[in-house]
Amino acid sequence: MLDRFRRVGALLEGHFRLTSGLHSPGYLQCALVLQHPAEAEACGAAIADRVRSLAPDIVLSPALGGIVIGQEVGRALGVRAIFAERQDGRLMLRRGFSLQPGEKVLVVEDVVTTGGSTQETIDVARSAGAKVVGAAAIIDRSGGKQRIDVPFHALATISLPTYETESCPLCAEGKPVMKPGSRA
Ligand SMILES: [Zn+2]
Repeated sequence: MLDRFRRVGALLEGHFRLTSGLHSPGYLQCALVLQHPAEAEACGAAIADRVRSLAPDIVLSPALGGIVIGQEVGRALGVRAIFAERQDGRLMLRRGFSLQPGEKVLVVEDVVTTGGSTQETIDVARSAGAKVVGAAAIIDRSGGKQRIDVPFHALATISLPTYETESCPLCAEGKPVMKPGSRA
């Protein structure tokens, strides 16, 4: 899985300044893999194989990152796929999307960094009265340190820590920092 990411430049290793301003030894951009429909379909099918025994009724993803992979997992499982999005900073269901009380929800994301947005999406489902049976992502970049309170499956796990500039060990080594997306 990670080789597939490296091949299309979706996983770069070195010393990067991320959009957040934090520094990291790795840059991960799932959209570069998911732009290829065959790759997106394969990732969706692989996740579906791992979660099928949870028997979800519906897939719920956080926008924007989770939408494409959520759709593919829903397709592979033969269930609906909807997404939650932010309004005034709060994640919620819009566009007429709804969950039924007791409906079994699988939360799907592209990348889990700390697990924060996955947990927030789980909370959206629970506050609608649905039952969250599991969560899944293509990549867990927390190195397995995420805290998600339902069974969690990732196709690949990698440890890509982030650092404030002042405490970045790569800066301390004097390694030049790159901004991903720019042609350097
Ligand atoms: Zn640095």
